Amino acid sequence: MDHSSDNSTTKTTKYPPGIVLGKDGKPCRVCTAFVDWTRREKKKQNTINNTKNNNNDSSEKAKKIVSTGSLGTAMINIVNNNVNNVDNFDNVQDCPPDVEQLGRATWTFLHTMAAYYPEVPSYEQQNSMKSFLSSFSKFYPCESCAEHFRDEMKNKPPKVESRWALGRWLCQMHNLVNESLGKDIFNCDKIDERWKDGPPDGRSDSLFKPLCKNNELYGPRLYMWGPGWKYGRRTSFDQECLKWQTYLKFIQCDFDIRDANEPLMSPSGKLPVLILSEGEVLIDELIKNYVEDNKGSNKLGQLSEEQQADSQAFITLADTKLRHALLYTLWCEPSNEYDTYKKYGKHYANPIDKILMYQAKNAAIKEMLIKIPVLNREDIYQEASEALQALSVALGDNKYFFGERVPTFIDAVIFSYLHNILEFPVTSANDLNQLVHKHKNLVEFTKKIYIEYYEKEF
Ligand SMILES: Cc1cc2nc3c(=O)[nH]c(=O)nc-3n(C[C@H](O)[C@H](O)[C@H](O)COP(=O)(O)OP(=O)(O)OC[C@H]3O[C@@H](n4cnc5c(N)ncnc54)[C@H](O)[C@@H]3O)c2cc1C
Repeated sequence: MDHSSDNSTTKTTKYPPGIVLGKDGKPCRVCTAFVDWTRREKKKQNTINNTKNNNNDSSEKAKKIVSTGSLGTAMINIVNNNVNNVDNFDNVQDCPPDVEQLGRATWTFLHTMAAYYPEVPSYEQQNSMKSFLSSFSKFYPCESCAEHFRDEMKNKPPKVESRWALGRWLCQMHNLVNESLGKDIFNCDKIDERWKDGPPDGRSDSLFKPLCKNNELYGPRLYMWGPGWKYGRRTSFDQECLKWQTYLKFIQCDFDIRDANEPLMSPSGKLPVLILSEGEVLIDELIKNYVEDNKGSNKLGQLSEEQQADSQAFITLADTKLRHALLYTLWCEPSNEYDTYKKYGKHYANPIDKILMYQAKNAAIKEMLIKIPVLNREDIYQEASEALQALSVALGDNKYFFGERVPTFIDAVIFSYLHNILEFPVTSANDLNQLVHKHKNLVEFTKKIYIEYYEKEF
């Protein structure tokens, strides 16, 4: 924003460049940078000095005028000593803020507030945040800044449906101001690091993220649906997200997770999405390629060709039979409707939530109808039961599907189904849960992976 002095509105008074006038036509301190304000003060000071030279008797009066000047004694010292030495401004304490101090403090508050906003805020919390931002934009003391902010808010209404969305929106709003002031554009992928987690430089053990790949400073970040079905669970409640989350865990790559709960952030319109520190965006199989190209793939078990073929066959079995039964449980059992809505839709405002839930249900039904001609509840669960039986036999007494010591991709896939089936709230319609419980080894397999890869982190 241009803060040059508005000479057009003041025909009689000329202000130094940079002075911003308030609504009353007078210089506005919180809209003006200190450095510009001091020029104004210096001008005042020169006038006083001239008066002093012309009339010695008026020296006391001049002191009085200066000492009661708008920025006080500290300001006067700066004006007298070196008006152009910006470093001196740091020494000024307890003075009313200029546009920069106020801006810095306000951005600190706004970004920190966004960093601690609930991951999945209630409808009421979303409304409170909206009205806070609306009031903020009316009362922000730098009127010209506030006006600009309000205009931008009209073009880009606040996103309050999740912590991720709010942080991102605020970052973009701040970047608009940065851009207009010729400042650098901030990388919005780093907002948590800047405002919540701190830099990964080892200053704090809990903040330190070990290097993951090629000496990257920051690990990759998985944006997913989350948190889990049960309180305190860090496992995604969405099977597809949990599959990739678990696979990344298997290679012991330290990555961040973000409960984005916003599929539209992904180029495919689906979560999860893995964003690397260089900004590369990976979805689906690209995540697998990333893992396999990474040194971390050494942590995974190696399969023979025959095992690879078997593994693929079991994955396909799970991705059809178990997936259909899971989709049916989530989207087609009326008694499960609210639990599904709580996770996938509740954080959106009404009526968007209804529309999105309707679309998601249709997408689930469409996906099932590609493979099966009619959606028959009994048939779907029967097929899932047969698939579970086959998986149980294949697993036998082993810890993992192929091999005893190290997991492979199939373990991430099967875990993602079984864990979510077992975690989903038990209702009369949760037949799938009972079907899994018939196979003790599958339940044990799921528990062990959870304990080893998720529980240990707490
Ligand atoms: C709503 C609002 C509107 C403003 N409008 C104006 C205006 O019209 N004219 C004017 O002169 N000043 C305006 N300001 C003040 C201005 O934005 C700066 O705060 C001020 O210039 C001081 O800048 P700074 O370089 O110290 O860093 P700031 O911009 O205050 O940023 C503080 C810190 O935030 C981090 N940061 C920077 N960008 C982002 C981002 N996009 N997302 C997350 N973190 C980030 C950086 O680490 C930075 O050090 C406005 C401030 C606010 C709050």
